[in-house]
Formats: sequence, C-alpha cells, structure tokens
Amino acid sequence: MEAERVVVGRAGRDVSAGELSPDDIGEKLVDLLEASGTLAWELDLATGEPTWWIGEQGAGRHGADPGSLRRGALVDPGDRERVLAVALASLDGARKLSMTQPVTMGDGTKRWFALTGEVVAGAEGEPGRMHAIALDVTREHDTLERLRMHSEQARELVVCLRTGPRLGFEYVSPACLFFTGYTEQEMYDNGMAYAFSAIEPATVARIRQDLLVGSIEGKSYDFPTRRRDGSVLWVRALFHQSVDDAGDMVFEVAIRDIGQVRALELEVTRLRLTDGLTGLSSRQALEEQWPLLRERAHAAGSWTVLAHVDVDRFGLVNSGLGIVAGDTLLRAVARRLAESVGAGDLVVRLGGDDFVVLVTGIESRTSALAATRGLADAFVDPIPSDAGRSFVTVSVGATLVPSGPWNAGDSLDKRLAEADVAMRVAKARGGNGVEVFAEGMRTEARDKAELLAALRDAVEGQQFVLHYQPIFDLATRAIVGAEALVRWQHPARGLLSPGEFIGLAEESGWIVPIGAWVVEHACSAARSWRAVHGRRPMIAVNLSARQLSSVDLVGVVGSALERSGLPPGDLVLEITETAFIDDFDAAVWTLRRVGDLGVHLALDDFGTGYSSLAYLAQLPIDRVKIDRSMVAGLHVNPHSRAVVAGIVGMADALSIETIAEGVESLDQLSMLVELGCDLAQGYVFSRPVPLAEMVALLDGTDAASARLSSGER
Ligand code: C2E
Ligand code: MG
Ligand code: MG
Repeated sequence: MEAERVVVGRAGRDVSAGELSPDDIGEKLVDLLEASGTLAWELDLATGEPTWWIGEQGAGRHGADPGSLRRGALVDPGDRERVLAVALASLDGARKLSMTQPVTMGDGTKRWFALTGEVVAGAEGEPGRMHAIALDVTREHDTLERLRMHSEQARELVVCLRTGPRLGFEYVSPACLFFTGYTEQEMYDNGMAYAFSAIEPATVARIRQDLLVGSIEGKSYDFPTRRRDGSVLWVRALFHQSVDDAGDMVFEVAIRDIGQVRALELEVTRLRLTDGLTGLSSRQALEEQWPLLRERAHAAGSWTVLAHVDVDRFGLVNSGLGIVAGDTLLRAVARRLAESVGAGDLVVRLGGDDFVVLVTGIESRTSALAATRGLADAFVDPIPSDAGRSFVTVSVGATLVPSGPWNAGDSLDKRLAEADVAMRVAKARGGNGVEVFAEGMRTEARDKAELLAALRDAVEGQQFVLHYQPIFDLATRAIVGAEALVRWQHPARGLLSPGEFIGLAEESGWIVPIGAWVVEHACSAARSWRAVHGRRPMIAVNLSARQLSSVDLVGVVGSALERSGLPPGDLVLEITETAFIDDFDAAVWTLRRVGDLGVHLALDDFGTGYSSLAYLAQLPIDRVKIDRSMVAGLHVNPHSRAVVAGIVGMADALSIETIAEGVESLDQLSMLVELGCDLAQGYVFSRPVPLAEMVALLDGTDAASARLSSGER
C-alpha cells in the first residue's frame, strides 16, 4: 500500500517521511490525547449522538462517566441549549467555536473545560456535525478566579450602573458586598438608596448635575456612605461612562475605601490647625478663621478683641528650671487662657510664650476692655506645679476692633502688629498689666531713639532724683525704712517715672551708672536721717539684673557705704527674679559676695512672672516682697489669701522677713496683719515722696501710726 503523505503540524512541514502509516499516526494521537486527559469527539447535530470520541480514559480519571461521554453528554444539561446556540452561531464560519465550560463530573466535582471546535455543514447547508476537543483547564480557571476575587476584595469595589427605565445597579463586585455588608439582592433592589444614605445633599446635587449633562466621565467624588450595620464608610467613586447597544448610559464606577486616607487627611489638618505643645489653635487656624469671624462680627454688629498675651519673665523658667518646666508652664498658661474665654472664642499659641486670644461677640467698648482685663485676671490664682504653686503674670496688649463695616484693609497682620505694640508697652511698664493699642503707641518706637540719646545726657548731667516710699512695721506701725525709687527730671518732658526709662536704661546698659548713682545717693540720704532722728530706718535700693552681672557691683556698693558712713546692715538691696534668668549660679555667687559686705538682700515683686515657693530657699535673701498683684487679690480672690499665708509661712520657716507692697486699703492691711506679714508699704501709708517730705514723714511717724491704729485713713 502506497503511503499517503500525511501532514501534521504547521503547513509545509512534512513529518511523515513515509515512515509512519496514517493508522500509526492515528494510534499515537489517541494515546497522546488519552495521556493528556484531553477529550475529542464528533457530534451528529441532527441526532445529538456522538459519531466518535477519544479521551474516555483521561476524563474517567476525574470521575466522568464513560457512558455519558459516549452519549456526548459532556455539557451539563442546563447548559446544553446555550452551548448549542454558540455552536450554531459559529456555523457561518466567521467564528470558531471557543468557550470555557463548567462540567459536573460523576464524583460531583465541577471541572472546567476549554472547548475548541467547529461545526461543519451538511449536504444541504444544514448544521451537520460538530467536532471539538476539550481541554481540562480547571486549575487555570480556579487560579484566575481566585486572583480576580482577591484583587476585587483587596483593591477595588466596582459597581455598574445603567440608565433606562430605572437607574440602578447592574453589577456589584463581591468586594463591594464584602465592604458594605449588603447582599447582592439588596444592592440590586435598593443599591442607589444605600449608596447615597450618608452623603451630603450638595454632593448628590453635583453628581446628579454631572450625570445629566453627561460630563461625569473620569470624574471622582469623595463621600460618606453607610454600611448595612449603619457604620460610615468614606469612599472615592471614579466614574467611567459609556453607551451600550441599546442606547442606555452605562457607568462603571470604581470605588475605593478612603477611610484611612481621610483619617490621615483629617489628622494632617488637625496638626496644621493646632499647636502641638498646648493643643491650642495654631497661627494657621487664626489666619483661616479671621475673615469668617470678622464677617460674623460685622453681621452681628459686635466688637472683637485681639489680644497678644506674653508670659512675664518666661525666660527665667526655661533657663532656671529647664525646658520641661517651661513646657509645663506653657500648657498651664494655655489652659488658663482657654478657660477664661467663651466657646466661640479662639485661643492661639503663636510660638514661644506668645499667645493670641480672639474674643468675639462683644457689645461695647466697655465690655471689650473688661474682656481684655479678664485675660490678665485669669492668672490671679497660682498655677499648681511640681514645685508646689507658682505665680504667673502676663502682659496683655489688645487691639479693639469696633463693629463698623469690615474693610479689606483690616488685615489680621495689621491687627496682630497693633496688639504686639500694645503688649510691648505693657511689658515696658513692668509687665503684669494690660494695655490697649492706641495710635500714639506707634510713635513710642520713634521716641525711643530720642529718649536713648537724652538718657546719655541725663547720666552725664545727673538729671535723676530719688523719691522715697516709707516702709512700716505692721506690729508697731512705725516707719522702719524707705525704698528709694528713681525718677528722671527730663528737661523737656518733666519728671519721668521709672516705667518710662528703666527698661531702656537696662537695654542700653545705662542702668549701671544710673544704679551706682542711686546707691550712692540713697546711702547718704539714709545716713542723714540716722544722724538727725537718731533712729535707723533702713534704706532699700533696687538693683537691676544688668548691675548684678556688671564688673564691680561689690566695689560700687562697698564704696557707697564707706563714703556715706551708713552701716551695711541698714542697706537692703532689692533684686527681682530676672537677675537669675541668664545664669542662676553666677547670680547667686555675686549676691553672696555682696551679702558678705553685711547688707541685706530682698527678693522684689514675688508673685509676678514665675515665682515658686520652693525657689525661695535656694536664694541668699533675707526679705521677700509680696507683689502688689497678690496684695490686690487679697479681698478679690479667695485663693490669694491662702497664697499669701503660704508665702508668710514658708518665709517664717526660712527666717525670711516678709513685706507686702502696694497696700492700698485698710482691708488689705488688716488681712496682712492677720496673716502675720512683717512689713508693708503702699499708698495706704504714703506714695513715694521727695526727700524733704520723707524727712517730714519721719518726724510725724508717731502721729501717722496713731491715726492708722485708730482706723482712720
Ligand atoms: P518696685 O521696686 O516694685 O517699686 C514699687 C513700685 O510700686 C513703685 O513704682 C511704687 O511707686 C509703686 N507703689 C508703691 N505703693 C503702691 C500702691 O499702693 N499702689 C500702687 N499702684 N503702686 C504702688 P515706681 O516708683 O514707678 O517704680 C517702678 C519700678 O521701677 C520699681 O518697682 C523698680 O522695679 C523700678 N525702679 C525704681 N527705682 C529703681 C532704681 O533705682 N533702680 C532700678 N534698677 N529699678 C528701679
Ligand atoms: Mg523695689
Ligand atoms: Mg516691687
């Protein structure tokens, strides 16, 4: 038999070479198909019966019933009609039969087969036979399916919407169901309502508008939606729009869970708008809210107070007690300020010890002033700290913004600058006070340069005078001393008080020669009283921190004592805590050297800035002056009494003498006596007076004390 040329494989490649007969090849192919588990068969479409098949063995491995295979029952009964339709559709030759088809095997497992084949027409053109091979692709199919599920669940939630008689979901991805908790049926029935259940109406309107004008393609919207359990899920929905064959709009919507992103965004916003240390609002928050608050104030016809609050002598805490103590104090100050204003007001930390308070909804200028004062009053009570209780005072500079029409020139920066100028004025006046911005303040800066030039002349021309404020012993009501307070006899401006030039003198260093002049003159005045009255009122002289760090304080004091002949024990040097700001140890060392001369040392203004009781014991002092602000609080503030009692008790234990300054009323006086305070000075006795008047007071001290003890003013 002549061997036929059999071509297998790609066209033109002859692999037969006459060595194998067609039967041999057929046999090998059958073996190969069986071994690979592939099925091949031909079906007579008229009868539905297979005309031949191969692969019974391979299929049998998966539990296929050989009999059913022989009957061509590879396709599940429910699928048969559809498969047939596909098969017939391929009849026009344009399409090959190609489909992946699930088949339930004899053992009940479901396997997937990729069918490839063709339908061959009969003699009359009717569908004749179908031959096909089926490859078991169950493994590949499962892997793909798992991947799809996985990617859907992990990454994207997809829904498909279709317009038409009813706008509704056409497809909802498993991931979508998983994340929302709704069933597929619930989604199809009511999905739109669920999706929009937590959204703001404005966003719905936006989406609807974009849908209507057909401009939604590629757009995304962030909105909250509600899960089945009621919890809120923030999503970003990205729309892809197309038109299907029926002319309906189809929207594929990719949805992403942006809960974490949003939480992060909110956190970033929160961080940007709050001050990390104190939890107050940040400068950015103030900037963002300013226009809004101003507009609201305008609409309501109310006044606004913008106040700059600065902690007095804050540097002392940071340098003396450390940054941790500084931070603790700042947090306490923040709390005080926040408590002192209303819920609608804004308390901001600009940085460092600089705070800004914005008080809104104020009726009148009078109330605005009261609100400003309230900020300073918030610090009358001591602040609890590790070292017991601490006294903090602040300098407040405020600008009052009237209710008039809002104009663009009314910028936040301008108002902040005004408040800052006012705050500096409050600082220059010794702190612990409130100043309201006035246009005149701007010229103060210009005046400063002039004043500085004049100060030089003042030092050279000795344009200073001393006034004296008597100090009374609370037990005997007798004058036991006086404080020397310097004044500048300015040639053009008249008598200037220390508040007007001491700050400048300290800044410029002129305080050193001025201070030397004061010590010298105070000592000789006191020496003259001693000579005339035979009594020995002590003389108190204020020292500035600058003098303490100057080269020869001991020399200056020593020679003043020597030249005047005043016994060192009659001189009291008053220092404030500012002396300890830069270098605590050096200040203590210098004070001890001065103390070695035999003079007394007093801590002035205790209760302003940062003052803590624990601190007293560390200082080489033998007198503490309770600040005017504490004394003023005595009958205003229930705690002040306890605080002053605490200071007196502590001072007693340390053998430190106590003196109350700024005593203005008999009420304060009697309370101080009751609390056991040793000495007092203040307007209730006398204002600071020139030398001649002081001498007169010393003469009449007995008469004065007699008046006081009888309760008259
Ligand atoms: P200071 O040492 O605490 O002096 C007490 C201040 O309180 C004085 O103000 C005094 O006039 C005022 N005062 C006294 N009693 C009352 C009262 O009952 N009510 C009120 N409201 N005030 C009262 P002054 O004379 O204006 O001095 C202010 C500050 O200037 C002083 O505060 C002191 O720190 C500083 N100072 C004054 N003289 C000198 C000086 O020679 N050298 C230095 N370095 N500083 C000085
Ligand atoms: Mg003083
Ligand atoms: Mg004082």
